[in-house]
Amino acid sequence: MKNNIATIMINHNEQIQKAADIIRNGGAVAFPTETVYGLGANGLNEKAAARIFEIKKRPFFDPLILHIGGKEWTGELAIDVPAPAQKLIDRFWPGPLTVVLPKKSAVPDIITSGLPGVAIRMPSNDIALQLIALAGVPVAAPSANLFGAVSPTTAEHVREQLGANVEMIIDGGMCTVGVESTIVSFMTDAPMLLRPGGITIEEIEEAIGEIIIPKHDEFVNQSPGRNDSHYATKTPLFLVDDVDSIDKNVNAGLLTAALINPKTLSPNITKIECLSTTGDLREAACNLFAAMRRLDASGVDMIAALPVPDTGLGAAINDRLYRASRKR
Ligand code: AMP
Ligand code: MG
Repeated sequence: MKNNIATIMINHNEQIQKAADIIRNGGAVAFPTETVYGLGANGLNEKAAARIFEIKKRPFFDPLILHIGGKEWTGELAIDVPAPAQKLIDRFWPGPLTVVLPKKSAVPDIITSGLPGVAIRMPSNDIALQLIALAGVPVAAPSANLFGAVSPTTAEHVREQLGANVEMIIDGGMCTVGVESTIVSFMTDAPMLLRPGGITIEEIEEAIGEIIIPKHDEFVNQSPGRNDSHYATKTPLFLVDDVDSIDKNVNAGLLTAALINPKTLSPNITKIECLSTTGDLREAACNLFAAMRRLDASGVDMIAALPVPDTGLGAAINDRLYRASRKR
């Protein structure tokens, strides 16, 4: 590492070129995608990929998604693209969808944690696309936060956690989707959901028919990195069915996607984060991680989160809340 003060970059073209050079030279840079900010490095270079694990303190059993600059790059990384996978690619790329396909030997084992499949996504964010195109290599890019912590949706979030350890942070403003990509694996007999995310399950099934959807805990067996508690705030977060079940003896913060009149709440609930005043799940997803961070920093002793309707982007939001509520 040459310097330990990360610069937040706003003058894009020049900075994207510089970031691409860093990636080509084996370094790591943080950049915006439509889902969350990513920590990117050359996905075909083992040493560069190793830096990602080091910076994030991420265990090597948790594989990385390769971000590509065009649909046609898929053939360089995957041995086979089954017809339903191609359908999803054609319908949802560029966008918040990741497919897991049988990997070619060009993909280093460190990327897939030794698994036979490689996870691939083409993001839609312009800065991300330009960066990948200029780097000219698939960019391995998990979320730009410490392993297990809340994902970053602004450049400032990245700076707070990783600022001292990355060469550059490209500031592209707030992420527009706000939750990670939906992951569908084609390594099983039938396509299987590995993570609900920015493309809804309804959209996926509308395109290719019914897919296998494991229950929360079953995800664990299918996809490494899904097992530990994740998206964890420092303040304990609890999922509650209704506001009346919140412990009345602790200073609590409330996370909700419904409009609630603070006057109707018990006085121990001192902070409220409403993800969308109209119950719009897209808006709620976009605000989720920033709201979790604000509650975490607000001085409350617990965060109580009300689940959202489990349809559309609600499935991804509830998945993040569920995992944030799991004890380490
Ligand atoms: P993230 O770090 O949030 O970008 O997402 C990485 C997650 O994608 C991992 O924790 C896994 O759950 C999943 N994943 C990535 N690569 C693979 C793979 N090769 N096979 C199965 N799941 C994968
Ligand atoms: Mg992550």
